[in-house]
Amino acid sequence: MATLEIKDLHVSVNTDEGAKEILSGVNLTINPGETHAIMGPNGSGKSTLSYAIAGHPKYEVTGGEVLLDGADVLSLSVDERARAGLFLAMQYPVEVPGVSMSNFLRTAATAVRGEAPKLRHWVKEVKQAMADLDIDPAFAERSVNEGFSGGEKKRHEILQLALLAPKIAILDETDSGLDVDALRVVSEGINRVKAGGEVGIMLITHYTRILRHITPDFVHVFSGGRIVESGGAELADQLEEHGYVRFTGKQEPAA
Ligand code: ADP
Ligand code: MG
Ligand code: MG
Repeated sequence: MATLEIKDLHVSVNTDEGAKEILSGVNLTINPGETHAIMGPNGSGKSTLSYAIAGHPKYEVTGGEVLLDGADVLSLSVDERARAGLFLAMQYPVEVPGVSMSNFLRTAATAVRGEAPKLRHWVKEVKQAMADLDIDPAFAERSVNEGFSGGEKKRHEILQLALLAPKIAILDETDSGLDVDALRVVSEGINRVKAGGEVGIMLITHYTRILRHITPDFVHVFSGGRIVESGGAELADQLEEHGYVRFTGKQEPAA
């Protein structure tokens, strides 16, 4: 269990025209077992927040802090962040040709746990987690994300989430591109992690759809690179009805 604190975070992205500030003072605390939905229109900086926390080299932190149980996350390498218990499911997961899912998962688990999981136990764990997510066992032998459909990639993300047992899970647009069945299965997977009561979850989403399956403890509206309003699950209902117009001045549906 761990608490994630983001304090006055400022992040710039390096572009051809020079550095451009994307995040301008993000403040957020996620306690163990809490689910925080970050909702905002396109281009508001939601993915930048997740990349910056994960340590993506393109995103430069120019101010503020990210702390995991009081320890500085930003001075850690990407691998060290994963080992410290941060999990990031990318909006655009990468393909890793030639590396099977089962090897990839065991390598990731070894990195995070600090030792290789015992093989017999591991095989059972993976089987169970795959069955929970309605994933065909043959999937384990396929190369990571290669030729995966959108829905398969998302199931794979949640499979990783279930197996790696992080302290903090950052899920960026996990709902995008999912059909109704896949959304239900993926949401159930997240709800199992949530029900454990230990993992802090940052659920980033443009649309309210996934929040019909997963009830967040807090909803934050993200606009112009910062949180502009926070509330409970009812804030998502308001967004579903009215979109983001109140925050941006532009009609942009959230449902
Ligand atoms: P969201 O996830 O909310 O849609 P992003 O974090 O992806 O928003 O993007 C926020 C803003 O930062 C956008 O204006 C986007 O064009 C810009 N941006 C993000 N990443 C890059 C990048 N690698 N290069 C240039 N601009 C970027
Ligand atoms: Mg500021
Ligand atoms: Mg995004």
